[in-house]
Amino acid sequence: MALVKLKEFCIPESPGQVSACAAKYGDNALILGGGSFIHGLEARGLLSEVEALIDIRKLGLAGMAATGEGVRIGAMTTFAELEKLPELASAAWLGALKDALTYPPMQIKNVATVGGCIAASCPFFDIPTAFLALDAKLTVSGAGAKREIGLAELFAGLFENSLEPGELITEVRLAKPAGRAASAFIKLEGTANDLAIVNAAVRISVDAAGVCQEVRIALGGGVGDSVVRSASAEKLLLGQKLSADLIQHAAEAVGQDISPMEDHRATAAYRLAMAKVITRRALNQALSRLN
Ligand SMILES: Cc1cc2nc3c(=O)[nH]c(=O)nc-3n(C[C@H](O)[C@H](O)[C@H](O)COP(=O)(O)OP(=O)(O)OC[C@H]3O[C@@H](n4cnc5c(N)ncnc54)[C@H](O)[C@@H]3O)c2cc1C
Repeated sequence: MALVKLKEFCIPESPGQVSACAAKYGDNALILGGGSFIHGLEARGLLSEVEALIDIRKLGLAGMAATGEGVRIGAMTTFAELEKLPELASAAWLGALKDALTYPPMQIKNVATVGGCIAASCPFFDIPTAFLALDAKLTVSGAGAKREIGLAELFAGLFENSLEPGELITEVRLAKPAGRAASAFIKLEGTANDLAIVNAAVRISVDAAGVCQEVRIALGGGVGDSVVRSASAEKLLLGQKLSADLIQHAAEAVGQDISPMEDHRATAAYRLAMAKVITRRALNQALSRLN
């Protein structure tokens, strides 16, 4: 009953065909990635206005490559494929992504795509939090034009992204940070396979003296309408030698940058308290990977 107005199932083989289908149906055309999120929307009757599904599996957007400069991941790469990236096993700077990929159930990993996961703009997912801490950049293409945006620019509110009708995410790029870097991700979940109550991802780079040269702290899981960075916590760590006291202090500071929500999984007060705890733990985990 949910796709009551569906008129066309487009399977484009070129970006031009995507644009053509999108132009015909405008806001009522929906890109189909792995379909795992869309399936949930359909089950809740939220796709009643959709007239066309645009299945992008034939556009050649799956695959990934690592170079000395970082990692490029095609938007249609599934989580299960991404887990096979050899660098995930060895590169400490990618630790947050490796950690985040352990959480989704295998059935989801086999279908969920990197592009769909971020385009959904769901603040409760895990992989977007890891990508935000890893400073992900996106290639977005539509109507013959390509643009590059930072991941934060994609998020336009709860389940809203900034893409124009017919625009696609085609690639996610993670640049390898300079110096000695490591990252980590932690999720607090009520039950296995549930969405996050709160999650945190951090990436830190230090120089030879152990002074923090760069830091990214991202939080998700209902601490705002989108996954967010904590500028207050990052500011406290940048340029400092990292100690247990300083890490505790920074973890407390995330409270200044988040607006935890209340739902059936947790109260806002619990989310706030746990955001601080898991930020501290993620920072310590990243530090232990550095050492
Ligand atoms: C049972 C279950 C458990 C889950 N557990 C976890 C978990 O533990 N951790 C976690 O992080 N996530 C979890 N998820 C969420 C999962 O990560 C998302 O459902 C998935 O990543 C969405 O990707 P998809 O390819 O299936 O997207 P789709 O459902 O195909 O699409 C999602 C949205 O993105 C749009 N879209 C898709 N691809 C593109 C593109 N390339 N460019 C532009 N727009 C696009 C679609 O139009 C749609 O609006 C879970 C989901 C389920 C159902």
